[in-house]
Amino acid sequence: MKPAPFDYHAPRQLSEAAQLLATLPNAKILAGGQSLVPMMNFRYVIVDHLVDLGGIGDLRGIAVGDGRLRIGAMTRQRELETAPEIDRHCPLMAEALRHVGHRQTRNRGTIGGSLAHADPAAELPAVCAACDAVIHAASVRGLRQVPFRQFSAGFMATALAPDEMIAAIELPLWRQGHGYGFHEFARRRGDFALVGATALLDVGSDGTVRRAALALCGVGAAPLRIDAAEAKLTGQRLDAALIRSAAEATSPVEPISDIHASAEYRRHLAQVLSVRALTDAARRAGVEVPNIM
Ligand SMILES: Cc1cc2nc3c(=O)[nH]c(=O)nc-3n(C[C@H](O)[C@H](O)[C@H](O)COP(=O)(O)OP(=O)(O)OC[C@H]3O[C@@H](n4cnc5c(N)ncnc54)[C@H](O)[C@@H]3O)c2cc1C
Repeated sequence: MKPAPFDYHAPRQLSEAAQLLATLPNAKILAGGQSLVPMMNFRYVIVDHLVDLGGIGDLRGIAVGDGRLRIGAMTRQRELETAPEIDRHCPLMAEALRHVGHRQTRNRGTIGGSLAHADPAAELPAVCAACDAVIHAASVRGLRQVPFRQFSAGFMATALAPDEMIAAIELPLWRQGHGYGFHEFARRRGDFALVGATALLDVGSDGTVRRAALALCGVGAAPLRIDAAEAKLTGQRLDAALIRSAAEATSPVEPISDIHASAEYRRHLAQVLSVRALTDAARRAGVEVPNIM
């Protein structure tokens, strides 16, 4: 299939893109095209105007400062996977990215495109949920910051207004030496996950958890933080029993049943994958725990 006819726009400045989005009827942003172009080819999406953000240099790049990692929305997924700043400050993201599609799709796909597309099984939104990311949204009205918990607005929906674009993503840094883990189950390598689990642990020298984050993808309309698991972990000595108990806090999740998996199976996966992600995070934080699942 070929897309329906559209006009193509290639702004060079953020302000120019904002102006186009504010004035053109039935316009859509083009980032890496890895989700949008197939949808246009199948004519699930028909646009009159495509605004390509690829020529706006300000929307690309990675910077670290003031305890934050700042990533331009048009930064390619493959660049993030291999960037030394990500490896040093947010290794969870690099680990999760290896599960995102294929190297070919990651060469084109962007972090902003993945967050705006908001597939409930996507890995990068789950990483942003675990990291308490802040989304910087730009429009003719200026810039506004949206905490990630408020950014997800249901199934494949976000808090962005129709004329807004993601300009950047900011991640508050975790302490150097924190532990991280990402596990997912997909039917084939490169497929979207049935369920994925993302864990971060900051562990003191006495083995006590100072801070924890656990987020799941594939179990709801949007990535889900498991606050009850984090509460169970924080302030406690980290061991296999604590990890099992924290993972049990995923049991109230209410995933969908579909052709790929039943809700019950997804709930089971949520628990098993949480144990595995937390176990990796514990080991990377310097606490040796046996594999229990
Ligand atoms: C074979 C294949 C396998 C894949 N597997 C996975 C997978 O396992 N996990 C996964 O997460 N993804 C997967 N994807 C999707 C891939 O990660 C895409 O890169 C991502 O979903 C969209 O990013 P993009 O930059 O290509 O955005 P585009 O496709 O260009 O845009 C996607 C949507 O986001 C909007 N948008 C883009 N950028 C912005 C912005 N800055 N501000 C506001 N709106 C914006 C667009 O208008 C469009 O609606 C796969 C894709 C393919 C083709």
